Amino acid sequence: MSEPSISRPRRWDKPFSLEPGSEEEMTDADVEILLKKPPFSQIDPAGFKRSLPLHDIIKNDARVVGFDDGDIVVRRGDWGNSAFFILSGNVRVGLERGKPTLPDEILGRRHHKVKNLWESFSQLWRNHSVPEVRKLDSVFSKSELKTRHAHNSTRIYLQEVSAVLDKYHTARLETGHWFGELAALGRTSRVATVFSEGVSQLLEIRWQGIRDILRHDQNGKLKQYIEDAFRERALAAFLRTTPLFHDCQPELMQRIVDQVEFHTFGNYDSPKPFKDLIENQDHATEGGEPVIIREGDYPSGIVMIRSGLARISQRHYNGRRTIGYLSPGQIFGLDEIRAEVQSLTPVGCRTQLSAIGHLNAVLVPTPLVEELLKQNDSTGAADLHEVKTHVSDSGSHSVKINDDTLLSQLVDQNFVQGTSLMVIDLERCTRCDDCVRACSTAHDNNPRFIRHGPILNQYMIPNSCLHCVDPICMIECPTGAIFRDFAQGDIIINEQTCIGCAQCASNCPFDAIRMVDIRDSKGNIIVDSKTRSPLTQATKCDLCIDQRGGPACERACPHDALFRVDMQDASQVGEVFSR
Ligand code: SF4
Ligand code: SF4
Repeated sequence: MSEPSISRPRRWDKPFSLEPGSEEEMTDADVEILLKKPPFSQIDPAGFKRSLPLHDIIKNDARVVGFDDGDIVVRRGDWGNSAFFILSGNVRVGLERGKPTLPDEILGRRHHKVKNLWESFSQLWRNHSVPEVRKLDSVFSKSELKTRHAHNSTRIYLQEVSAVLDKYHTARLETGHWFGELAALGRTSRVATVFSEGVSQLLEIRWQGIRDILRHDQNGKLKQYIEDAFRERALAAFLRTTPLFHDCQPELMQRIVDQVEFHTFGNYDSPKPFKDLIENQDHATEGGEPVIIREGDYPSGIVMIRSGLARISQRHYNGRRTIGYLSPGQIFGLDEIRAEVQSLTPVGCRTQLSAIGHLNAVLVPTPLVEELLKQNDSTGAADLHEVKTHVSDSGSHSVKINDDTLLSQLVDQNFVQGTSLMVIDLERCTRCDDCVRACSTAHDNNPRFIRHGPILNQYMIPNSCLHCVDPICMIECPTGAIFRDFAQGDIIINEQTCIGCAQCASNCPFDAIRMVDIRDSKGNIIVDSKTRSPLTQATKCDLCIDQRGGPACERACPHDALFRVDMQDASQVGEVFSR
């Protein structure tokens, strides 16, 4: 009997334009028309490899999508896997510049109100005896959002989009503009919601297509465009995500936007800095990392992290000790500038800031920060104590890990990347393996981790996917099979498009991805129909995405020993590592 066989999937087996939501298949003639328009016309096709020409990238990684009046194209907070170029029509972008900003209700989201003590207690006799009761006035009737079916996908749209959006701060983007590229390239969430205003036609490009264009765009046109677009459209909204800038007056904000400097450290496109960090931890702490602000120097501005992570360290005998880390949205240098404003004498930094792996940061120059602090003091605006940092020994919002060595190890081994780091407290764990069995049951009898990994003090960090802030496993995946779930932000592998190339497994510095031979239901290994070699695919923890109640491992532990920790959440980190 011959082995079961299928053809090994390849990149572009299914062009983007054949996926649901597309208008029609992209043809060579369509691509030729696009190549004559800017910005494609400004990109030199000679810079592309013969095996990966610009023409083919557009043909396979791009699609034309039509939107009707009011359709939501992307929503603030969703994770971005693609960028859009406006071929015709207009879109409206919700801006965060001042108030009122777009409420969650018109983005199709709802706030979950937590029940108070009385409401929780009275559920015992007030709950309905019939299932699934809803209040009539809370269902659909108040919503300005409707749904419609278009091109094999369901769209959410806002009725009378222009009239509704006129009440909020928005910007109109017209034919020839790009949007969404920042989230797609930064492996981050969307910073704004975009609606189609009237009928529009957009070119949507998958992130791996943009990545390949950027790699080979020798004159850097697209890169320059992206930096300019960030300054023009998203910088103010980004700055306002921290309390310091919440109430910044528009005139000052405009000057800040004009003068902010962009700084990039490490290579966005390469997993090497992350691997070096883990393989050579001394290198990281002995000054091998790029220094952003040196200890003792007066800061030339505050540094705000855009993407990636930064280490805060202090001189310690002949070396340095790590005392904290910064995640996206957090800032450094404010205390020193504030002390200078109060004492009128420059105050040098007590700590040093360096980049871990790849980092994007903005620097707001000191004179503008001083002006902002004076403005905030005079209006009683932002509470500076709300400016959170993950520093071990200062401030009520800081990570409270009382053991500097443990904190340092977490940073050195880059576990601070985790948005869902698995931690097992070995003082509670009885080695019963209920967690592994639960994982196995949730994944068709295939456990996605083993109870093995580095041990820091009493904590084991098993080799399970951390669901990183900056998932470098995605960098080289040719098909985009490993991707960030657009709603939850979890890192997932799509079995339909994984070609088994193992790039992700070799890039993941945490050994969290396993390549497995795949089988049919009788246990026969499935082979490539052409080469007859076994087909492999990447597997890893998917946070039990298809299970109710979240990760089975955590729910199964009878001894309260296993946790999933978001290392960007100071209170969770403190709770788990200071028990
Ligand atoms: S597979 Fe590895 S690099 Fe990717 S998110 Fe998981 S731990 Fe991070
Ligand atoms: S093995 Fe990894 S990198 Fe290769 S296609 Fe599958 S998910 Fe992508």
